[in-house]
Amino acid sequence: MILVKEKDPMGRAIADFQKNGVAGRLRVFSPQFEEDEIPVETLFREWDEMPAIEQKALQMAEGRILDVGAGAGCHALVLQDMKKEVEAIDISPLSVETMQERGVEHAMLKDFFDIKGEKYDTILMLMNGSGIIGSVDRLPDFFAHLDALLNEGGRLIMDSSDIRYVFEEDDGSFAINLDDSYYGELEYQMQYKRVKGNPFPWLYIDFATLQGYAEEAGYEAEMVAEGEHYDYLTCITKSKNR
Ligand code: SAH
Repeated sequence: MILVKEKDPMGRAIADFQKNGVAGRLRVFSPQFEEDEIPVETLFREWDEMPAIEQKALQMAEGRILDVGAGAGCHALVLQDMKKEVEAIDISPLSVETMQERGVEHAMLKDFFDIKGEKYDTILMLMNGSGIIGSVDRLPDFFAHLDALLNEGGRLIMDSSDIRYVFEEDDGSFAINLDDSYYGELEYQMQYKRVKGNPFPWLYIDFATLQGYAEEAGYEAEMVAEGEHYDYLTCITKSKNR
């Protein structure tokens, strides 16, 4: 699915920041959380402003690289500076236009799940990259799609977070109802100025659960690095012996 400009708050914020060097508030709503905000300038972060796990991901990326949900193109631009071969996709027309203005050479308006007939060595999904998978029950389809897109020995390099800490009580126990859906399945909706987007599902996943699904699908999942706040970087490799 491709977003329409009238319902693309993040893309509008990115385009505004590109044009004016400042932007208003990019507001994030969720039934599960209090209202939050994404500082728009963080979407334009440069190498030295990136968290260590993102720097690590960019260093590891090799061969033909696909940057999925590339936003304002911050990672694609660094990869180009490193002389690596990168294609950047996003479902936001305004973000893709901004990437092109900023000099991302291969920026394309495309939904990851619609890509066909291409092969990559590295698929990058960053800034809680697991988000676009949406829910745990979509993991098998996600891995099947990866199968079609990765070369032999190719790797998915992705960050996520175990948000279990959100449910931790003062006494150290966890207020997680096991009958509910997986605790990392959230719904978000964004607003920028008067542009409000549709609600969308967003998945945060703990490493052990992700690893289980990866192995089930014939992949090897490795924890590459842990961030400062329950976030981590994983490298998931299409194993050769299957
Ligand atoms: N990776 C960027 C932006 C993260 S925000 C950064 O680190 O700054 C997530 C981005 O994913 C948004 O720009 C959103 O439009 C895009 N996106 C969401 N679903 C997508 C899909 N199915 N295919 C491609 N891009 C998607």
